Amino acid sequence: MIFDGLSNKLQDTFKKLKGKGKLSEKDIKEATREIKIALLEADVNFKVVKDFVKKINERSIGSEVLQSLTPGQQVIKIVNDELTNLMGSANSQLSFNSKGITSIMLVGLQGAGKTTTAGKLANLIKSQGKKVLLVACDIYRPAAIKQLQVLGEQIDVSVFSLGNSTSPVSIVKSAMKHAKENYFDIVIVDTAGRLHIDEELMNELKYIKDEISPTEILLNVDAMTGQDAVTVAESFDEKLDITGIILTKLDGDTRGGAALSITSVTGKHIKFVGVGEKITDLESFHPDRMASRILG
Ligand code: GDP
Repeated sequence: MIFDGLSNKLQDTFKKLKGKGKLSEKDIKEATREIKIALLEADVNFKVVKDFVKKINERSIGSEVLQSLTPGQQVIKIVNDELTNLMGSANSQLSFNSKGITSIMLVGLQGAGKTTTAGKLANLIKSQGKKVLLVACDIYRPAAIKQLQVLGEQIDVSVFSLGNSTSPVSIVKSAMKHAKENYFDIVIVDTAGRLHIDEELMNELKYIKDEISPTEILLNVDAMTGQDAVTVAESFDEKLDITGIILTKLDGDTRGGAALSITSVTGKHIKFVGVGEKITDLESFHPDRMASRILG
């Protein structure tokens, strides 16, 4: 399970702290050194770890902590607070337009989980009583359109497609017209990905963005790819100014470094996490709950 390694290590450190009663500056230094190693082993970005440990040190060595009756507990609370901050502190919700259609563009590399997530998200939003249209703009991956149509049928959501010989920009343009004429509330656009970031992919996404000015541009990244996910997020954000992140495959055997680094590095919040292949395996992301889960 994600964070198991990190969780176990932090709990060992905390056990030592709690067992000590009064803490010295040396105890804190030793504990933060262990926390640093645990975070690095969990594949958290080096700079993020450095800043994190500095904050823990500064806040823990303050006189209130060392002189309190339960210094160990206080340090744990500080680590909990800072872990929560690292992941963006508050839960970040989807934005909806107050008037007209809300459009959500899903972007990311091939295999990141866009098509699957498009179905999951459509299902979730539909359950909130909204009329959702899925738009198939991944015209390059042979099975992508079919995959979206199958998902649409499964959840009883319409899928707009013009096949794979019309340009994605023309497809979204027609899809928005169709959505307006047929009173859809939400349009979710599944876009194409590549194995690596390239100029052509980015330009195509930029053209789609310029055409529909989406309410949300959500980047799908695979949590299993660790620090690569963070680098990918930086590139997409630079080009498209994304509005949020969906971290997929959090159910896999990942150390969790991406979840703990991506918001710090990009400044963009994780809005959802994918926790499996089923249509219902999408969860809203709560930094405080995730921090509590890590600390056990
Ligand atoms: P796309 O190329 O970005 O559209 O990616 P797909 O939606 O086709 O997903 C690629 C693979 O990842 C598929 O086999 C999905 O079932 C799988 N997948 C997507 N999201 C998750 C997730 O949250 N957990 C797991 N375990 N698998 C996922």
